[in-house]
Amino acid sequence: MALIVQKYGGTSVGSTERIQAVAEKVKRYHDAGNQVVVVVSAMSGETNRLIALAEEISPRPSAREMDVLLSTGEQVTIALLSMALHQLGQDARSYTGGQVHIRTDSSHSKARILDIDGERVKADLDAGRVVVVAGFQGTDEEGNITTLGRGGSDTTAVAMAAALDADECQIFTDVDGVYTTDPRVEPNARKLDRITFEEMLELASSGSKVLQIRSVEFAGKYNVPLRVLSSFEEGEGTLITLEEEDVEKAKIAGIAFSRDEAKLTIRGVPDHPGVAYQILGPIGEANIEVDMIVQNIGKDDTTDFTFTVHRNDQAEALDILQKTAKELGAREVESDDRIVKIALVGVGMRSHAAIASNMFKALAREQINIQMISTSEIKVSVIVDEKYLELGVRTLHEAFGLDQVES
Ligand code: ASP
Ligand code: MG
Repeated sequence: MALIVQKYGGTSVGSTERIQAVAEKVKRYHDAGNQVVVVVSAMSGETNRLIALAEEISPRPSAREMDVLLSTGEQVTIALLSMALHQLGQDARSYTGGQVHIRTDSSHSKARILDIDGERVKADLDAGRVVVVAGFQGTDEEGNITTLGRGGSDTTAVAMAAALDADECQIFTDVDGVYTTDPRVEPNARKLDRITFEEMLELASSGSKVLQIRSVEFAGKYNVPLRVLSSFEEGEGTLITLEEEDVEKAKIAGIAFSRDEAKLTIRGVPDHPGVAYQILGPIGEANIEVDMIVQNIGKDDTTDFTFTVHRNDQAEALDILQKTAKELGAREVESDDRIVKIALVGVGMRSHAAIASNMFKALAREQINIQMISTSEIKVSVIVDEKYLELGVRTLHEAFGLDQVES
């Protein structure tokens, strides 16, 4: 007998018919002899609808009240799913986050889970019930309702699975697994059977949006086997686990890309110690995350400095940089958002040195100019002109043998 935690996202519970279909699926797993805990999101569109309501009342609603409001979306779906299970003759009980003691810190709208008390859930499971838990929410020490950030139900599911020492955490969604790259850009993209936590994290942070990043971090930390699979089709999905012994085989897991980047350059800054700090310090103080950084070799005692930020932060970063430029007596500042980031990800990079150069060779063959490069242990990312996004992704997909193979 296995204990599994299943999470169904907003699309999967988007209508009463779909909730009934989820109930049937859950019952099948239970009838097969498993103990099942189900975590659900709000019905698709519901969280956005609630946010819009708040905006009609106040331009800056209180964060505490916002969490009280947004947590209602998931409370609707847990009750409806339990009722649907009852209709099938399956004993089930729904719980809000607070009721199963999902204890979080007090950072409203982006709270972190501190602790879960699995005892109540275990007692229900032992009594033969399916337990249905509201995703995305918890309560802080004072009992205030908190939420975990958009997409946070994934994290609830993984945290539940860790707390209950579940055999597997299954994330049911509208795609049938994790792909080598986005099939909308590369139709030859292939579904992966397995991928490591680390690779999944790199893919997610470079733009692949299958899972909330924090849920993957959590799963890696507590070694919870995580499976992404379709709510609507049969299949094994993609299993995300620790690294396998024979990493030699799996050199590259996939190619991620992001259109959310903007590049800022400051030219002709004095080339002396402390300049990088003077430029990036104020950016960091404004809570703007910097991704890639390039500093040119200095010439005539001055140097150029380029970095990337999220497009949403571009305007603010540019303001800050203009101020810094005045202080430093820099020559000019410019920014460009017509760029994209393309990243090659795979644990095999650890043992195969030629991967980065093969990547650059493949891009050069297509005359794609690389503007910036950064590398980490299992990832090489490049910034290129946005017009090369599709060509770049497809070129690398083919060059690294990721294309669909007939089997
Ligand atoms: N309902 C929340 C959202 O839309 C949480 C989730 O779906 O995971 O972001
Ligand atoms: Mg969601």
